[in-house]
Amino acid sequence: MKRRQREEHSWHETRAAERPVEPFSTQGRHALALAYANEYRIGMSSLALQRVYELVHEEEDWTCHRFFTDGDGMPLSVEDDSPLNAFGAVAFSISFEEDYVNFLRLLDRAGIPLRREQRSEHDPVVIVGGACAMINPLPLAEFADVFVLGAAENLLPVLLPTLAEERTREAVCERLAAQPGYFVPSHHHPEGQAFSPKLVKLELSENAMRRPGHLPTTAIVTPHTEFSNKFLIEMSRGCPEKCRYCWATFGMGRFRWHPTEFILAAVERARAVTDQLGFVATAVGDHPDIEMILRQANTLGFRTAVSSVRIPAVTDGVLEALFASGDRSITLAPETGSDSLRERLNKPIPNQLVLDKVRLIFRQGFTQLKLYFLVGLPGETLEDVEAIVELVAACRRVMLEELAPTGVIGHIHVGANILIPKPYTGWQREAMEAPAKLKPKIALLKRGLGAMPNVSIGAMSIRQAAWQTFLSKSGSDAAEIIEAAARGQTISSLLRRHARVIEPLVYEAAPAGQRLRWQFLRAG
Ligand code: SF4
Repeated sequence: MKRRQREEHSWHETRAAERPVEPFSTQGRHALALAYANEYRIGMSSLALQRVYELVHEEEDWTCHRFFTDGDGMPLSVEDDSPLNAFGAVAFSISFEEDYVNFLRLLDRAGIPLRREQRSEHDPVVIVGGACAMINPLPLAEFADVFVLGAAENLLPVLLPTLAEERTREAVCERLAAQPGYFVPSHHHPEGQAFSPKLVKLELSENAMRRPGHLPTTAIVTPHTEFSNKFLIEMSRGCPEKCRYCWATFGMGRFRWHPTEFILAAVERARAVTDQLGFVATAVGDHPDIEMILRQANTLGFRTAVSSVRIPAVTDGVLEALFASGDRSITLAPETGSDSLRERLNKPIPNQLVLDKVRLIFRQGFTQLKLYFLVGLPGETLEDVEAIVELVAACRRVMLEELAPTGVIGHIHVGANILIPKPYTGWQREAMEAPAKLKPKIALLKRGLGAMPNVSIGAMSIRQAAWQTFLSKSGSDAAEIIEAAARGQTISSLLRRHARVIEPLVYEAAPAGQRLRWQFLRAG
C-alpha cells in the first residue's frame, strides 16, 4: 500500500475535553490497544467500545489505549500519544462492513502487515470483535489473528491473561483456539467444514445481566461525539419481535433487560459528569419500567433521549417523559407501507396502528419524526412502494392536524434503506434485489416524497447496498478486493471489475438446504 509522508495526529485537545466517569490509570503493567475503525466522533458514540475500555481497566495491572482513524501517519493513542505499533496486541471493534477498509488503512499506517501470515513476532496480535465478527468473520479472516465472538464480559477474562502470559503470537493463537468464543483462522480453517463445537458465540445471558457489574454505560463523556455530552446507558439486549431481516434479534438472542435498580444507579453516577442521558437498545421502549426510569431521570434534571422505539411501545407515558426532558424528535421504523408486506416481514403492525402512534407523538408536541423504510424486500411490488408514499402522506396529514393549534408545522424525515439479506437472519438465503428493479422503486419514492412539503428523504445507494451485501456474505476470498479498496480503488470500479465474483453472491439466492459458509458459528 502506498505510504505518503503524513502528519501524525496528536490528541492533546481532545483529551482535555474528556470527562471520565471514574479515573482511568494509564500505568498498568500490561496495555491493550483498542482501535475503532472510524473517527473518534463515531467511535466514542459506541457503547461497545466504551464498555471494553472500562472492562480492561477493571482488570488488575491492565490499561487500555484508544485509537481512531483521525489524522494521517502513525496512529497515536488518545491516552498519551503512544504509537499503535508499540503495543503487543491491538483489538478492533468493528460494527459496520464499510469500516473493513478503514481497518486495513489503520494497520497500514501503523506499519503492521495487513495479512496475518506476513506478520512477524515483532508485530502486534490483531484481534477483531464487534457485530461484524459475529455476523460473518470470513471476509476478514486473512487479516485478523483472532476473532472474539460475543460479549466482552465473557471474553476478556480469558483473552487478557493469555496476552499477558504467552510470549509468541503462535502461543496466543493456539491457546485461544482451544477456548469457546474465539475464532482463530490459522487453526480453525472453517470454510468447507460443518459446525464445530468450539466456535460458539458467548452472548451475555439473562442471568449475567441480573448480576451487578454487567450494565454497559459510557466510561468517558465528551462533547466531540455524535451524542455530544451524553451519558449512554444500555437498557436491554435482543428484541421481542423477529423481523425477518434483522440481525439484532436473531443474532443477539432472546429479549432480556437490565434490572431497573442498576439503571437508576447508573443515572445517579452520570450526575457527576453531565446532565444529558441517552438510553440505548434495539428495543428501548420495551423495558418494563421505561416510563418510571424516564420520569426519574427528569426529576434529577437530565435531558433525555432514546434510540428508536418499537411502534407498539410508543405510549403516552413514554412520550410525556421524553417531551418533558426536552426531546422533540422520535424515530419509528414502519419498514414498509402495506400491511400484507409488513406481515410477511414478520412485523404484524397495521398502518392504522402506525398512524395512531404518529398522532400521539405530534399531539404530545413533538415536531420532528424520522421514519425508516426498506425497499427491495422479497415479493415487494411497485404498489407496495407506492404504499410507502401514501403512508408518509397520511403521517404528514396527521402532523399538520395535530400541530396546527401550536402554529408549528413540523418535519418528517424518511430514511429509505435497501434490504441487505444478512447472515443469521430469517432472510439470509435471499438475494439482494437487482438494480433494474430497485431503480424505479427508489425513483418512485424520491418523486413521491420529494413533492411533499416538510418531508425530506435520504436513500441508500444501490452501490453501497451491493458492497455491504458482498462484504456480509463473502468468504476469505474477498481479501484481495477489500485490500484494493483500502489502496484507494473506488467501490464502483471494484463492483464492475470483480462482477463475476461479486454478482452471484449478491444477486443470487442460496437454495434451501445448501450449507451457508458462515454457519460454522453457533450461539452459546
Ligand atoms: S423491531 Fe427492530 S430490533 Fe426488533 S426485530 Fe424488528 S427490526 Fe429488529
